[in-house]
Amino acid sequence: MLLALFLVIKLATLSGKTFETIDPSSEQVIAKIAEGDKEDIDLAVKAARQAFDHGSWPRIPGCERGKIMNKFADLIDEHLEELAALETFDVGKVYSFETNVDIPSISKEVRYFAGSADKIHGKTLKLSSEFQGYTLLEPIGVVGLIIPWNFPSAMFVLKCAPALAAGCTMVIKPAEQAPLTALYLAHLAKLAGIPNGVLNVVTGFGDTAGAAVASHMDIDCVSFTGSTEVGRLVMQAAATSNLKPVSLELGGKSPLLIFDDANVNQAADLALLGSLANKGEICVCSSRVFVQEGIYDKLVENLVEKVKTWVVGDPFDPSTHQGPQVDKKQYEKVLSYIDQGKREGASLLIGGKSCGKKGYYIEPTIFENVTDDMLIANDEIFGPVMCLMKFKTIEEAIGRANATTHGLAAGIVTNDLNIANRVSRSIRAGMIWINCYHNFDSGCPIGGYKMSGVGKDHGVEALEKYLQNKAVVTPIYHSPW
Ligand code: NAD
Repeated sequence: MLLALFLVIKLATLSGKTFETIDPSSEQVIAKIAEGDKEDIDLAVKAARQAFDHGSWPRIPGCERGKIMNKFADLIDEHLEELAALETFDVGKVYSFETNVDIPSISKEVRYFAGSADKIHGKTLKLSSEFQGYTLLEPIGVVGLIIPWNFPSAMFVLKCAPALAAGCTMVIKPAEQAPLTALYLAHLAKLAGIPNGVLNVVTGFGDTAGAAVASHMDIDCVSFTGSTEVGRLVMQAAATSNLKPVSLELGGKSPLLIFDDANVNQAADLALLGSLANKGEICVCSSRVFVQEGIYDKLVENLVEKVKTWVVGDPFDPSTHQGPQVDKKQYEKVLSYIDQGKREGASLLIGGKSCGKKGYYIEPTIFENVTDDMLIANDEIFGPVMCLMKFKTIEEAIGRANATTHGLAAGIVTNDLNIANRVSRSIRAGMIWINCYHNFDSGCPIGGYKMSGVGKDHGVEALEKYLQNKAVVTPIYHSPW
C-alpha cells in the first residue's frame, strides 16, 4: 500500500516541490506530498480536456460507465482498512468510525451514482403546432473539484461519483492537510478501469493549485466544499475568468432545538452527537444548542454526566470517541475560541482545555449562558465546543435559530408532531433532522441556504450540476424549402 502511494506521489510531481502531511496524534511527518502548482493544474486540465473531447468516457453507454464505477466501489470495499487507516493517520479520525461508517458510506455513494449513469434522460417537448422539441442532457465537460480536509474520502467521492456518472472528466484538488486518501482513491479508480485523463488529482495548496482551478479558462464548472470565506474567492475567480457555474458547499452554525416534551436522554445523546462527533469538525455540527427552559436543568445534568465518559485519545483505540484536531492551526483556533468564550462571559460547564502529552487533543467543551451576540455563538468554531442557550417559546427559538448568516442544517428534538412540522418549515436551512442528527444518505440532497452555499451534493440534484441541458427543435412536417 505504501509503495503504491509513494509512486503516485512521485509521479504527480512536476516542479519537484513537496510539502509534509502530519499525523495530528503524534505530530510526526507521515509523508512528503508533491506540491502541485498552476502548471500542474494546467497539465491536468489538458489531460482532462483531451479525455473529454477525444476519449471514450463521455461517449460510452451509461451502463458501461456504471459497470466501471461499480468496480471502483468494489475496490473501495476491498481496501476499506487501508483507506480507514490513512484517514485516521492523516486527519485523526476515529478508526472504528472509519471502518464501520465513513468508508462503507463512500462505496455506497459510488454505487448510487453508478446506478444513475444509464438513467440520464431529457424530455420531449410539445411546442407550437408546427414544431416539436426535445432536450439532451450532456456532460458539462471538464470539472474542477475542490475539497476540504474534514471528510477527505467522503468528499472526494461525493464530488467525483456524480461527475463520473454524468460522463465528465475532472481535476480534483484535495485539501493540503489531508491528501493521502485522495491519492489512494485515484489509484483505485485507475485499477477499476477509469481511463487515463478522466480523473486527475493534483495535491497542493489552496491559494496556488486551488486558485488555478477556480480561475481556469478551460474548466467548465467548479464544485467546491470548504469555508465560506474561500467559497467567496472561488465564486469571484469563476466570475472573472470564464463565468463557469460554481456550486459551493460552505460553513455552518447549525442550531439544535430541544423542546420541553423531548426525552431527556435521547436529547442529550443527540446534542453530543451533533456537537462532538468527528471532534466537531463537521460543517453541519450543531454548535448552537437551544434548550427550552422546562427541560433545561435535567438536560444539562444528563449532558455533563455523558461528557465525563467521553473518551478523548488514540484514534486507533476502539474505546476512543474523539481523536485530535486535524492540525496545529485548527487546534490553536479552537482553543482561542474557548478563551474568547470565557472572556465574553459564557460559563464553562465542562472541558475547555487541551489534553494529552502530545498531539492536538482538546477536551469536549460545553459553555452555558451563551448569548446570541457572543462570537462563539456566531462564528464556526469547527471543534468540540457546544454552546447551550435557554429559550421560552417556539417563536423565540425559531427567531434565534434563524438569526445567523448561515443556513446549512438544523435539528429538532420533540415528540410533538405540530412542533416538528411548524419548526421544520420555519428554519431557513438546507437540511432538517427531526429526532436524529448527522443522518446522511446518497439519495438525500444536502446544501445550504444563505451563506452556507449554492447548489447541492448527493441525490439527483448532484448529478444535475454536471449536466448541460440542450434543447433541439425541429418542424413536425418537413418544409419543402
Ligand atoms: P478551506 O475553505 O480552507 O479549504 C477548502 C479547499 O479549498 C482546500 O482544498 C483548500 O486548499 C482550497 N482553497 C483554499 N484557498 C483557495 C483559493 N483561494 N482558491 C481555491 N481553492 C482554495 O476549508 P477547510 O478548512 O479545508 O474545511 C473546513 C470548512 O469546510 C468549514 O468551513 C466547513 O464548514 C466546510 N465544509 C462544508 C461542507 C458542506 O457540505 N457544506 C462539508 C465539509 C466542510
